[in-house]
Amino acid sequence: MASGIEKINIYGDSRNCSSVTPTFKCNNKADLVESGKDYCVDCWTKKTTGLGIEQIKLQIKLLGELKHD
Ligand SMILES: [Zn+2]
Repeated sequence: MASGIEKINIYGDSRNCSSVTPTFKCNNKADLVESGKDYCVDCWTKKTTGLGIEQIKLQIKLLGELKHD
């Protein structure tokens, strides 16, 4: 899943997420760069998995709860 990431933005440069759709423009701080485009974590996970980061957290939580049964 992580293949294709060129750079993780850990250097504190102030780039913004470049994700734009007809109904939505994201202005979050960009966390990573892929194919020369900046993405925040939320947009990147949506782009690569179809799920937002909150949905992924929920899935992980549900999986964890299943394991404890
Ligand atoms: Zn974004």
